[in-house]
Amino acid sequence: MRHHMIRPEFVESAPTQLSDGVIYISDRFRTALHKCCCGCGREVVTPLNPAGWSCKRDDGIVTLKPSIGNWSFPCKSHYFIIKNEVVWAKTMSARQISAVKARDARDQQVYINRCNQAKSVTELPAPSSPTDSAPSWLSILEKAIRRWLSA
Ligand SMILES: [Zn+2]
Repeated sequence: MRHHMIRPEFVESAPTQLSDGVIYISDRFRTALHKCCCGCGREVVTPLNPAGWSCKRDDGIVTLKPSIGNWSFPCKSHYFIIKNEVVWAKTMSARQISAVKARDARDQQVYINRCNQAKSVTELPAPSSPTDSAPSWLSILEKAIRRWLSA
């Protein structure tokens, strides 16, 4: 049975059992999870990042962008989630699906590259090395000897 409404639930991590007609949104893992709205019961994972989906929320009402195309499922269902409403889209042809897949792969690669670039910037050595301020084993030894001598 196709669903026409979906209810968001904000969770820390994914529950073991998913309910039909509920989309679980985890800010911690930046992921949303729901059972395919066609009723086939398969889990649909939508990463919430610039290469995946954006999730607009307003007082318990969510809109996911872009549409959700479950091309890898036998049902091949395709729908939008707009303000908690499941808006069914036309099933795409095999050719359209492969075009979308190629575009998604490209977006994903661009995003990964951008993340890697950002990471390499933050990984640059800090101006002062932490060993400068930390007591070295030599200074600890020196203190111990002084204490021993003054005892
Ligand atoms: Zn399905």
